[in-house]
Amino acid sequence: MDCIYGRTGYNIRVATEQSFNNFHCTQCGGELHPDEGMHFITCPYCASTVYLDKSRVVFHWSLAPTLNGQQAAAALARWMAGNDTVKDLDKKSRILGQEFQYFPVWYFKVKTAGSEQIYLEPAAATSITELRSLKLPAGDLRKYEDALVGQSVEPSVPVDAALGWLEQKQVKVQDVIESALVHIPIYTFKYSHREKSYTAVVEAATGRTLANIYPAKAEAPYMAVGCAAALIFMCLAVILAISVGSDSGSFSVIGGLVCVFGGLFSAAVLFGVASWVASRV
Ligand SMILES: [Zn+2]
Repeated sequence: MDCIYGRTGYNIRVATEQSFNNFHCTQCGGELHPDEGMHFITCPYCASTVYLDKSRVVFHWSLAPTLNGQQAAAALARWMAGNDTVKDLDKKSRILGQEFQYFPVWYFKVKTAGSEQIYLEPAAATSITELRSLKLPAGDLRKYEDALVGQSVEPSVPVDAALGWLEQKQVKVQDVIESALVHIPIYTFKYSHREKSYTAVVEAATGRTLANIYPAKAEAPYMAVGCAAALIFMCLAVILAISVGSDSGSFSVIGGLVCVFGGLFSAAVLFGVASWVASRV
């Protein structure tokens, strides 16, 4: 975090010295006179909701939740039962806590070569950086209401820092045609699995579940079964090749029988091991 603030430290100092006395509404251009330390403002002229960053004024939106706590828990359970996570995570994990919040993200609309793209960057510290991958349904954005403040996480990442992250993704800052702060509704779940605790976030507008670290399906056991199968059938093929090429008739017959029964036996054993792995992993 130090480097983020180091990069924009100069801007912050200048803005503080000017003590917020020349901010203008993004919508109507009206002059805003916020009190010291005030960040969430409704324009007295046009009623737009705006957010005052250290260096600029941006629109301030919120996304309306469509899921209640129970539905969010159900979305989490579906994700746990799905294919990304370890088998039966929904049954084998224990939910430790559930919290609803509006989490701030920086929203940037970028126009390049005629096409528009939306980028999101977290506007506060979070362990779920996957929040970047959310898709915001543009039509569902609404004015941020003061009533949401109590449930909202305050932005702590300056817009300049977020623009710096965009630059690292080869996005040119001059191509940003719209910047806004959006508070998105999320349920943060803490759960434990095999003595370890994890965090997952359910976005409360679409039910999408996000997590950076979770008990994933282990691939190693599947790989091991696959390699064993390849090895066994290769050996059988070699035996068959040798016995067919052999001059002795009885040796060919024995070799053929070894291959047929060996193949059937190995296939049965491998099938059993594979189903056992699938039921456990
Ligand atoms: Zn205004």
